[in-house]
Amino acid sequence: MKRGHYKADAIVLNAFDYAESDAILVLYTREFGKLKGIAKHGRKSKRRFVGALDPVTLKTVDFFVNGRSEFVRLESAVVRDTFSSLKSDMERYSLASYMVELVDVFTREGLHLPELFDLLKGSLAALAITKSTETVIRAFELRLLRKLGLMPHLSSCVACSGRLLDGSAFFSPPMGGLVCNSCSSAVRGLSKIRLGTARYLEAVSSFEPDKLKRLGASPDILGEADRTIYSFILYQAGRDFKTRRFIDSMRSSLL
Ligand SMILES: [Zn+2]
Repeated sequence: MKRGHYKADAIVLNAFDYAESDAILVLYTREFGKLKGIAKHGRKSKRRFVGALDPVTLKTVDFFVNGRSEFVRLESAVVRDTFSSLKSDMERYSLASYMVELVDVFTREGLHLPELFDLLKGSLAALAITKSTETVIRAFELRLLRKLGLMPHLSSCVACSGRLLDGSAFFSPPMGGLVCNSCSSAVRGLSKIRLGTARYLEAVSSFEPDKLKRLGASPDILGEADRTIYSFILYQAGRDFKTRRFIDSMRSSLL
């Protein structure tokens, strides 16, 4: 980016304290993609940086680019939407934090995808009001993967392209999709998946609400869909997600 002053709509992906009163923010902006910014006195200046350090909020930021540093200098951040009902619900807020971490891990500076910003913003808004949080999260994961060119193949066998006819098949993270029963003996590291789960994931990824209603996903299918896609995300990211670890431990303590 050229030296100068800019303005952008942004969602905070991560925030760190720096020095005595500064803050470092990792932002995903609609106009410029991912940015790292330093907010001088960001932890003290209530006027210029209202709620700036809160992740999972939509803001308008003003910043200066000097053309030399990898950091932009944040001049102000104004909160536009706090997705307020997320903050009062621990489960939803944790899931929102997971969405934000996914975007942070799967993007780098220089990758400018305005539709990715729109997807994150729309999904946070949907998560705040939905009755089926699991479906919103799966839809977000799959649509994020699709936008990044990483969408797993769910309609036929990735090895032989054959149709999947039995009640179940297998999923291979390294092969990026479903493997039929006859090909499965030649592939290692597979996990079993019901075809009902694969159809649910396909419907979720293309966001066909009518189809989803007809599929009427059972808790078994929702659980399997979650494990399958997360195994693929872990494989693609090559690391695990601290927000997800928190969600898993929170859920297991509620059992
Ligand atoms: Zn096959």
